[in-house]
Amino acid sequence: MSKPIHPLPQRRGIIFILSAPSGAGKTTLYRGALKGIAGLEFSVSLTTRRPRGAEIDAVDYRFVSEAEFNAMRETGGLAEWAKVFDASYGTPRAPLETAVSEGRDILLDIDIQGARQIREKYPNDAVAIFVLPPSFEELEGRLRGRGTESEDAIQRRLKRARDEAREWRSYDYLIVNNEISRSVGELEAIVNAERLRAARMREGFAPWKS
Ligand code: 5GP
Repeated sequence: MSKPIHPLPQRRGIIFILSAPSGAGKTTLYRGALKGIAGLEFSVSLTTRRPRGAEIDAVDYRFVSEAEFNAMRETGGLAEWAKVFDASYGTPRAPLETAVSEGRDILLDIDIQGARQIREKYPNDAVAIFVLPPSFEELEGRLRGRGTESEDAIQRRLKRARDEAREWRSYDYLIVNNEISRSVGELEAIVNAERLRAARMREGFAPWKS
């Protein structure tokens, strides 16, 4: 029998979920990871909130209207979705499932509600990582330092951050983001170890066959 033109990848792609209270430094962390870890892609979420600062459409988020978001949700186009503050956020399903079946690893920056849905839906493919700031004071400083939000919005984010921070125990891994370069290294270690799990290799995968 001739070899298939597109041989199956040795394993399925892994869904890396990264959750953190706002201000934990998660964005800096995943940007560092995406730069430093080969073959890790970012899942661009849909959101109904407005772009903030230097955010770019289709890179940071796909900024959509309520109507567009609802249409996508109602037609089963989202793998998970949640309301965070006053906006809706969701992960497009097709690119995620294509990545997994083609053996490409994908990183999701989503909140704890979304993380729960993804872990339920893709129990064998998802790895959930929680990022905590070194302290609550540090988190408050970072949130204020962004300078992109009103005091009211900051207060709401702080309250939510305190509540969310308690969730870390339900995740597979915890990174305390003391120092960004070390945290990127820790994330890299998690990704590398998960990529090597024997259980992820496809049925029929024969490492000794040339
Ligand atoms: P921000 O507005 O600060 O970018 O994000 C607010 C929160 O929404 C963060 O906790 C972020 O992880 C979360 N988030 C971003 N995209 C998604 C998504 O597609 N689904 C869910 N469930 N949460 C998301």
